[in-house]
Amino acid sequence: MFSIFSIAIAILPTFQKSNPNKTPLLKHLTNITDDYHLPSTVTPFWYDLTIRIYLPGTTFYGQVTSQIRISTPTNTIQISSDGLDVYYGFIIGANFVSKVIHFESKPSVRKVILHLDRQIASSDVRLTLYYRGFYSKDFKGLYVAQYNDQGKKKQAVLSFNSPIGARKMVPCFDEIAFKASWKVAVVHPAGTFARGNGPVSSKTLIESGKYYKTSFEPTKVMSSYLLAIGVGEMFAEATASGHSNSGILVNVFSKQTDSKRAKNMLPAYLRQLDYLERRFGVPLKVKKIDNVVFPEFLVQGMENEGLISFSEKVPSIEYAENAGLITHELVHQWIGNSATPKSWALTFLKEGIATFYEKEFAINPMTFANGMECDSWMNSHALLSEPRDLFELSWNFDDIVYQKGGAVFSMLRWLIGTPKFDFIMKQLILKFSDSTFDVADFVNLLDTHAHRSHIEPSLGTFFKTWISQPNFPILTVSAVSGGVIITAKPFYYIDGTFPSTFAKPTSFPEVRPIPLWYRFSNDPSTLQFAWMYSNETKFIPNRNIANYIFLNTDNYGFYRVHYDALLYRKMVLLIRNDYKIEPNFIDRLLVDSWPLVASGHLSIEYLVELLEAVRALPRQESTLIRTLHVLNSMMKEFAHLQEYDVVKEYVFNYFKRQPENKHINFPGGSALIQKYFHAADVKLHQHECLFGVEICAKEYENAFHSYLYPFCKDDQMLSDCHRVTGSLEVVICAAIQTNPALFDYFLQKYEIEEDYLTFYSIAAGFACTTEDIDRLFDLLTTPHRQPHIDPAHYSLLATAMTTKHPDQMQRLFLAKLTEPDVNAEFLIKTFSRAMLSMKADYGHLMQFSRNHARIYAKYRPAFDLAMEKSVFRSQFEHYVGNRIGFALKRVA
Ligand SMILES: [Zn+2]
Repeated sequence: MFSIFSIAIAILPTFQKSNPNKTPLLKHLTNITDDYHLPSTVTPFWYDLTIRIYLPGTTFYGQVTSQIRISTPTNTIQISSDGLDVYYGFIIGANFVSKVIHFESKPSVRKVILHLDRQIASSDVRLTLYYRGFYSKDFKGLYVAQYNDQGKKKQAVLSFNSPIGARKMVPCFDEIAFKASWKVAVVHPAGTFARGNGPVSSKTLIESGKYYKTSFEPTKVMSSYLLAIGVGEMFAEATASGHSNSGILVNVFSKQTDSKRAKNMLPAYLRQLDYLERRFGVPLKVKKIDNVVFPEFLVQGMENEGLISFSEKVPSIEYAENAGLITHELVHQWIGNSATPKSWALTFLKEGIATFYEKEFAINPMTFANGMECDSWMNSHALLSEPRDLFELSWNFDDIVYQKGGAVFSMLRWLIGTPKFDFIMKQLILKFSDSTFDVADFVNLLDTHAHRSHIEPSLGTFFKTWISQPNFPILTVSAVSGGVIITAKPFYYIDGTFPSTFAKPTSFPEVRPIPLWYRFSNDPSTLQFAWMYSNETKFIPNRNIANYIFLNTDNYGFYRVHYDALLYRKMVLLIRNDYKIEPNFIDRLLVDSWPLVASGHLSIEYLVELLEAVRALPRQESTLIRTLHVLNSMMKEFAHLQEYDVVKEYVFNYFKRQPENKHINFPGGSALIQKYFHAADVKLHQHECLFGVEICAKEYENAFHSYLYPFCKDDQMLSDCHRVTGSLEVVICAAIQTNPALFDYFLQKYEIEEDYLTFYSIAAGFACTTEDIDRLFDLLTTPHRQPHIDPAHYSLLATAMTTKHPDQMQRLFLAKLTEPDVNAEFLIKTFSRAMLSMKADYGHLMQFSRNHARIYAKYRPAFDLAMEKSVFRSQFEHYVGNRIGFALKRVA
């Protein structure tokens, strides 16, 4: 069997034993024979690509010459190609020409094997290929977006090549480690305009004025996933332009309708670019950076060299207060584009660093809550994890890679201080500029430049243990005479007493050094530090007073803290008695408390006491947000239980009984959040508050669907929301609730306008019949329709539909998976999470996985997670469900 750690072993020989949690439930099902990597015996160093764009159209044509180095004599060459029709090719060597006599397609690994008419000796040669391609339907590779601009229908072509899209656009050596220079020319219809990675070097009218040929200056060496072109009217002239202090030309392209956003975005963009050039102390070696705010884009942003793309659906990209995403993509210009991780198993190196800097400019605090959430399940994975096939590669772009990655770098920063952290980043950029690096390289820099003799263990050991094992610690703190003792174990949502497949590890496979940041008082300047090991019981003496210990109050550590009953009650008492208590402390307690309750570590009564104590405090922006998160989580988790009504009652009344029933006061709060709250006119009234957090959630956690959930559940709540907010989405929801016949009306309306942006609300809102569900599911899984719907809204739809009719949706979804020509990757990505995890039936899923071994093998993580969540749900019902009434009665 193909080892999942083949590359990781080569990089880090000692890491092999870790990551037990990637083991599938049914091990024998995994049988992957073809290696998806290209051999390293043929490497590219120069490409010359001419690509011919038809618009409108369904196909494109290309001719590419790659200069390659052959280091082992061969008569075959493997090249990445996905869905391309490569029909002619030859190789020119020093004194020979060799023809490709057979193109052997390997669709499962997205390669073509070129069979040559002769053996080629080790040498540098030029490989020329002619091919035809098809605009992709899934927004990966080269695709066409349809959009409306000022009332007119338009089209534009854009590429999105990360991580393996380049091979859908051009047959190339599409490995992250193969860096080469790209010289690109685009032939495109007159009336359209083209942009690429490099500045435009020439533009000529050809073919009797019917086409333009636009050529770009060659790029510096870069990985193929950064290759980008954009073609269309919208690329004619920048909507906004400016220069960085260092003289880099920055352009923003957008629809005319979006020109105001683009103009507003520019100052923040230039500010961040200047800031990062100063902070890294390394100027960017580019003349220009084009940016496009694009109507159809799969992710929020993509850092393509010299042509960065943003989705126009990113809320508030134009607000200076929300520069997180811009910062993220700009950081990549140094880390990722210039200094590049050696393999996709190391995605977290570039994404973790970019996320770390992003968080400094994002409005959400550094709690890395989504990363923790994902990392709390048995099917979590280590940051350093080698995908076994191309399908698994997408897992290296989840919240664990981004957020936990960011958190590990954040911990490092707190350990060594900002100046040293920045210095190491600078060394990394300088040393690996236009090159690649791996974990050993980074650890080397750490040990060379940040070694502190009094810190044990070494930072390298700290870093390696945190990236090579899944999960994170829960620290249990108990009061003892003269101080506290702290113990650590992995934090999982399920407790292991359920089916044996989910036997939870009670300790970390490799002893992990845990950095402890703590204080004994409310005063942040008294912060102290100590290391503890995950297998150790740590005693921290506190001779002073009341045994207070504030652990991780400052959000430095990627772990949860579980105070014992005595300490927890003391904390709550402190909050109740001292209005000057630091908000950070309360917020962290709130962030940790709900997962502790849900996992059975903390009794719900304690959480209710905390909520009651917080309720009595003057309002703080951050505390309000955290409280609303907890309340929303409660509603979501109780939705399927009979206690839902009593929980809903409590949540609705929570703010009603507020002593200061006034506008929320935001001392020091961000202007952006204030804007949102005022826009939603939140007056501490029940629905408005929840709606307020729903809006904020877009900004805060990108976990919108979880906030939609309570709305789907409760019809009354939906229509109240509509009344209060006047939001279009809610209006539609409520309208359909009132008159189910309107479902057809909206369905038609949005279908005709090809504007599906608010489409999800239909599903959320309709009091739909089982028949409607059948139709909508059918509609959503019709392949030609998929590109027109924003993928983010697919999962919202799925969530909404599943909420209304979980059993039916599970049945439809599983049936769909068994169809032969199903677009599996699409389905699993957009539907599985919502559907398989919302209300999965363990027995049913297990049965299905046994009956359909091949399907199970393919969708294993989603199935495993669904089964685990189903176990979690019964555990939740047992631990929490039957106690909530008791807990709430006490505060009524
Ligand atoms: Zn990124």
